[in-house]
Amino acid sequence: MQRILVTGGAGFLGSHLCERLVEQGHDVLCVDNFFTGNKQNIAHLLSHPRFELMRHDVTFPLYVEVDRIFNLACPASPVHYQHDPVQTTKTSVHGAINMLGLAKRLDARILQASTSEVYGDPEVHPQQEGYWGRVNPIGIRSCYDEGKRCAETLFFDYFRQHQLDIKVVRIFNTYGPRMHPNDGRVVSNFIVQALRGDDITIYGDGSQTRSFCYVDDLIEAMGRMMETERGFTGPVNIGNPGEFSMLELAEKVLALVGGRSRLVFQPLPSDDPKQRQPDIALAREKLGWEPRIALEDGLKETISYFRRLLQA
Ligand code: NAD
Ligand code: UDP
Repeated sequence: MQRILVTGGAGFLGSHLCERLVEQGHDVLCVDNFFTGNKQNIAHLLSHPRFELMRHDVTFPLYVEVDRIFNLACPASPVHYQHDPVQTTKTSVHGAINMLGLAKRLDARILQASTSEVYGDPEVHPQQEGYWGRVNPIGIRSCYDEGKRCAETLFFDYFRQHQLDIKVVRIFNTYGPRMHPNDGRVVSNFIVQALRGDDITIYGDGSQTRSFCYVDDLIEAMGRMMETERGFTGPVNIGNPGEFSMLELAEKVLALVGGRSRLVFQPLPSDDPKQRQPDIALAREKLGWEPRIALEDGLKETISYFRRLLQA
């Protein structure tokens, strides 16, 4: 049993991680400022004796005593992270500095939830960890992409300079229950639109691709990464290599939900990556992990979640 801090623990991924860690017998401290997270996501854990919730913004220092830190605090959807881009960069960078400082004081192991966005709009396909990326430093996505890149830099400098026990995972598009219905991400958008019978909004011509990982697979990989031997830092790609165009995704969602929604085409946001697919050879080798849940099965679970949410 360990005392584990999860920053961003009331968010989509964080809440699933907290749940898993409590189930495994750990003492979990969930820290969140509720910018995009929601108390509802962790309501079922609040009465658990090994779960504690603290409202705190990671851009400010935090003084707690823990053995391990999962650093997830950061808005993840383009709509949310572009809402207050300065705060997004602060959350990634000041948040990383504060959590690394905490880890250093405690000599605690710390895992950073990085992102496939560090690869930007990639020229290399699929993306391997050795690829340095193609990121616009001054565009509308830069607050997130460059913030996460700088956080990785800080993690590796703390590793080299202070021998801190770091782990970095690069998460590719992940979906599942507890995604925010209005966060503008493609899976939640398409499902909510289909359930409401609204038009399905395809940005651009819909030929851009993404690889979608179901949340349970992702949480399993994050947990395994945290347990790898000291000195193995990553970065490790975590995602599902199954690659789909946005048109294919829309058609799958429509086929599963039914209904009368039409596909409508809207302008592609600037710097929207054209292709994205993780190379997960390293995760297979070092974590003994690969995703198990097919897109169709994960979509069914996610659709039932949103159906219940919209009915409520
Ligand atoms: P989310 O928006 O649901 O969760 C982020 C959480 O962080 C929220 O609960 C939010 O309130 C909290 N938060 C934001 N700023 C904060 C601050 N300054 N202080 C304290 N808490 C703060 O997003 P998510 O999808 O659960 O993503 C979690 C992490 O995983 C993020 O770091 C994100 O960059 C990373 N990630 C997610 C994906 C994905 O597809 N979901 C992909 C790549 C990386
Ligand atoms: N997208 C879309 N319609 C939507 C929302 C998103 O076609 O209603 C597209 C978006 O332009 C991008 C892809 O879906 O090409 C994935 O978008 P998301 O915001 O989910 O994630 P990210 O771009 O960060 O991978």
